[in-house]
Amino acid sequence: MDKEQELKIYNEAIEFFGNTSQKIMVIEEMSELTKELCKELRDRGNVENIADELADVEITLAQLKMIYNIHELVEQHKDFKLHRFAKNMAELKANQKK
Ligand SMILES: [Mg+2]
Repeated sequence: MDKEQELKIYNEAIEFFGNTSQKIMVIEEMSELTKELCKELRDRGNVENIADELADVEITLAQLKMIYNIHELVEQHKDFKLHRFAKNMAELKANQKK
């Protein structure tokens, strides 16, 4: 599915169900992903279920960003955190070699 179509569906979902409902959905879907990861860690899960719940989380997170209109702000935070993470990793690797 192309990005434009995806965004249209998210907008329709937010308009139809409302902000509060879609915020609750994010929480529900994150807990379902959590459950699947826990099952997998106990050797009772499967990758198909993890992929299914991860897709649900991504779909609901995309709507959450639309509700708060924070897509760019999230990208800025990600950029900052990834640079900091890469720097910390490089330091840890350099210290391991000493
Ligand atoms: Mg789900």
